Amino acid sequence: MENCIFCKILRGEIPSKKLYEDELCLAFYDIAPLAPQHFLVIPKEHIKAANRIDKSNEAVVGHIFTVIGNLTSVLGFSDGYRVVTNCGKDAGQTVEHLHFHVLGGKELGSFN
Ligand code: AMP
Repeated sequence: MENCIFCKILRGEIPSKKLYEDELCLAFYDIAPLAPQHFLVIPKEHIKAANRIDKSNEAVVGHIFTVIGNLTSVLGFSDGYRVVTNCGKDAGQTVEHLHFHVLGGKELGSFN
């Protein structure tokens, strides 16, 4: 997508602090971290949000969760972590390209 900032990151038009990349997804650190460790994992395919996941693209979501498991293990999130995806206006989604926040590195407290 031409004007999507995460597509721009994928194309290398906007810099990012990359953590991991393969043919299906990219992981990079969030510019405004909400925890000591906060990175995002995005599909390379432009999917607008979680409510656009369907049979045609669901495989990448499973793949992303495998990648998250591997990365959190390598990064040493041994006491756990949180995965969040905001979907739409009421959830506060600000970038309309499906992304999974991965937060860890401290006790995150209850989820409101
Ligand atoms: P959301 O509010 O769920 O749509 O999350 C979007 C996230 O993208 C926010 O946590 C932002 O800090 C993050 N973000 C926006 N632009 C960039 C960027 N250029 N590099 C890394 N993270 C970004």
